[in-house]
Order: sequence, then C-alpha cells, then structure tokens
Amino acid sequence: MRPALRTGLLAIWRDSDTVQIGVDPRRAVAITGMTGAADVIRLLDGSRDRDQVIAEAGRRGVPAAVAEQVMTVLAAADAIVDHPVPLLRSVPTELRRQLLPVLAVASLGSQHADGGGRLLARRSATRVAVRGSGPAADLLTDLLTDLLTRSGLRARRTQPADGSDADLVVLVGHQSPAQTAELLRRPVPHLAVTASEGIGVVGPLVRPGSTACLRCLDLARAERDPAWPLILAQLAGRSADPAACDPVLATAVAAQAAGVVLAFVDGGPAADAAANGTLELLVPAWRWRRRSWEPHPACCCGASAAACGRTPAGESRYCPSGDSHAGA
Ligand SMILES: [Zn+2]
Repeated sequence: MRPALRTGLLAIWRDSDTVQIGVDPRRAVAITGMTGAADVIRLLDGSRDRDQVIAEAGRRGVPAAVAEQVMTVLAAADAIVDHPVPLLRSVPTELRRQLLPVLAVASLGSQHADGGGRLLARRSATRVAVRGSGPAADLLTDLLTDLLTRSGLRARRTQPADGSDADLVVLVGHQSPAQTAELLRRPVPHLAVTASEGIGVVGPLVRPGSTACLRCLDLARAERDPAWPLILAQLAGRSADPAACDPVLATAVAAQAAGVVLAFVDGGPAADAAANGTLELLVPAWRWRRRSWEPHPACCCGASAAACGRTPAGESRYCPSGDSHAGA
C-alpha cells in the first residue's frame, strides 16, 4: 500500500492537536490526537509505501510508533487511500496529469480506499453510444469521448440503428418509437436527453423492464392531455430550426447527462436521480428540478410488473412497438 491523503482534500489544522482533512463539512473529517503528526501527514502523497513513510518520518525525528499510529488513525477515519500506482504507471505522463482530477472525484464519490482505481476499471469496461444531433449531442459526445476517455470509458457517436454492442445508449432529441422499442426489446439501458424550447430535460434513465420507459411517460402525458398521441405523431422526424437551445443550456444539459452516465456506469445510487424521473432545467430560472414518473400500468414494457400481472383479460396494453397486447 502507498498511503495518500484522499486526493483533492487539504490537511488543515483546527488547533495544535486536531487536523481536519477537507474543507466542506460534507467531505471533511476532523481527527484529534494528531500532535506531532504534521511531518507524517506531509509524507502521505502516495510516493512511498508504508515502511518508507515510517523510515522518512524517522529521519525527521518522528518515532516509528507515532508514524504508524498517525496512519492507522487516518485510515480509520477514511482519510487516506491506497494510491493507485499501477494504474497511473500504465498511462503516459501527459494523460496521467489529466487523469488525476478524474481519479480525485472518483475517489471522493465512491469513498473506496483504492483512490478511485476500481471505478476507473469499471468505466474502462463500459461502452456508451450517443444517438442524435444538435449542440447538446455534440457537447455530450465531446465530454464522453474527451474528458471521460481519460478514465477509459469507451464512448462514441452512433447512427440511429447503430450502437448494438453498447452498455448504455444516450438518445438526444425526439426519437422514433421504433428505435426505443428496439432498445426495450434487446434490452439495452438508455437515457433520454432533450434541449429545446429553452428547456433541458435529462431522463428518464430507462432500465428496460425495471424502470419507466419513454412510452410509460407518453401514456402518463396522454392521461393529462388527450391530444398528446396526436401531438406525438406530428413530432416524428421534426424539430424546430433553429432549436431554442443556446450554448449555456446545451452545456448544462450535456454536463448533467454526462453525470447521469457516470453514475450509471459507476453503479452508484446517483443514477436513480434520472430513473423513474426526469431532471429538468427551465430557462430563465436555471434551477434543476426532478420530476417523478412511475411505470405506467398500461405499458407492456414490464416495469409496472405488478400492474401488468393484474391486467384483466381482454384489456389491451400499449406496446412500445406500436402493437397492442391483450392482457393476460
Ligand atoms: Zn413502459
């Protein structure tokens, strides 16, 4: 192990005996009994293994028992991690410099003791496809292929029928029912994203058969607005030109979508923010809010399993393919 203070957090002294690792209370941890520990803490940058830290601290006059105790207490407080040396050695120097901030956020986000290495390995095994066009799609693709490629995430822009080997497909703009039906059928998790009419929407994140699909949302909209199916039919293949989406809105939407993608790939609960819900940004308020959508009992995507199981005989359910299925 090469002990390092959790990346991205500063060591700050509250008094001569108490060190605080991190500034914001949501990240910081204060540890007492640290008198004389400053020399040891300064050595915790991941460049030495545990024995080397103890030896170097000894050269600076710190007894081995004290150095060991400091590292033990910091580890118990989750303030130090095992610096991911093999991972960093495996990438070129320039990429390493770019990778460090990504690792720092992954380390803080996961709270694993491996400095973010496990999350990056998970990302490197994941393929994300982006379908759609427009500034939000361009920026999202840039984010996923540039920034996130540093952490090994394989992201690429695809044509509507492409992306068959993707672990997650991001659909930017209005999609044809046939395309989303295909993703439900295979099944491939997908995230809907739109940025038009001065409104950004990220979600729902559809886990086929588990969370509300795009058809579930349309069925709910149709309950509130009987004309919605007619409106939807007129949207196919159409978009306003130019779309009311300026660079700030496009950037905000792309960043939010990239965050949901990362949360999905990392497997953390944060991905739930866009599952059975949409994250929406309305200009000029510029404040993200979440809107909840439940799986619709009339949809045959399977997400509303209990409701589907109770569908009375002869009653039809909407099928994403456009067909209707008789209830069991
Ligand atoms: Zn559904």
